[in-house]
Amino acid sequence: MTARIIDGRGIAGTLRGALAEEATTFANRTGAPPTIAVMFVGGDGPSERYARQIHREFERTSFGVRLHRLSEETTESELIALLDAVGRDPDVHGVLVETPLPPHVSAQRVSLAIPVMKDVDGVHPVNAGLLFSNSGNYLAPATPSGGIELLEKIGVSPRGRHAVVVGRSASVGKPMAFMLLHRDATVTICHSHTDRLRDLVASASILVAAAGVPGLIRGEWLQPGAIVIDFGVNVVGDQVIGDVEFVAAREVASAITPVPGGTGPMTVTMLMRNTLLAAQRQRMFS
Ligand code: NAP
Repeated sequence: MTARIIDGRGIAGTLRGALAEEATTFANRTGAPPTIAVMFVGGDGPSERYARQIHREFERTSFGVRLHRLSEETTESELIALLDAVGRDPDVHGVLVETPLPPHVSAQRVSLAIPVMKDVDGVHPVNAGLLFSNSGNYLAPATPSGGIELLEKIGVSPRGRHAVVVGRSASVGKPMAFMLLHRDATVTICHSHTDRLRDLVASASILVAAAGVPGLIRGEWLQPGAIVIDFGVNVVGDQVIGDVEFVAAREVASAITPVPGGTGPMTVTMLMRNTLLAAQRQRMFS
């Protein structure tokens, strides 16, 4: 079997076309586009590159974006004051605080200071709690939302399937596991202390990799016909590769996301979708 390649770039492009139309409609009605504020620390590193990517892609899709570059010396109270100001600004609808933050700034206290209605990456404990209980109109983290969207777009329902999620971070693995559970999958979560990873992977009908370990999941471990969602982004030499051994996995799986071009383009697209949703809700309540 040679797997279908899940074209995240193409799917994201189609979704962005529709989002651009909705963003333009919103701007025509309210006088300003749905707008995100992105806060990041330092320059020239991955945080700045991600901020620039968001800037480029949001503007291209008729969204507004404000970048706030913070110096390494920014104190926790300065960052919290900025979040407070952005929270009160009616022209900013979404807020993303990139990690890592400097060691003297507590990511946990910062996440509590993000306005819940503008928390477009779903990091505030209220949004995380609503995701956990699957109740209310919560904003879900962008990266796993993109993985779920890819499954939907290729017509795969998680219902009744065994989904194995490798990785348990608060931003990727854990929310992905809960999103699959809420869609009636039977879910196993694996992490760095998991025994017999290979056997668990072999029992997966949907395999999600979110470990950040290049080639951790061997193609030969997969169940024939498995669907593979690879979130891994690993720079090896001059290449970016996933957590799944792509060439071997493609011969066993029925569908697989490539790296790059799979889950990556979906993350920014889901940030746009959440920013639009947040803007529409704030408009409704203003
Ligand atoms: P993270 O916070 O470092 O979490 C990694 C998780 O993988 C942890 O739960 C860790 O277990 C587990 N793990 C590490 N080594 C393992 C092993 N050998 N076997 C089983 N589990 C193992 O990383 P993250 O932020 O979730 O990101 C994961 C990957 O996704 C990274 O490559 C990152 O660059 C990528 N990413 C991609 C996107 C996208 O848009 N596609 C967005 C965000 C992140 P413990 O909990 O036991 O330590």
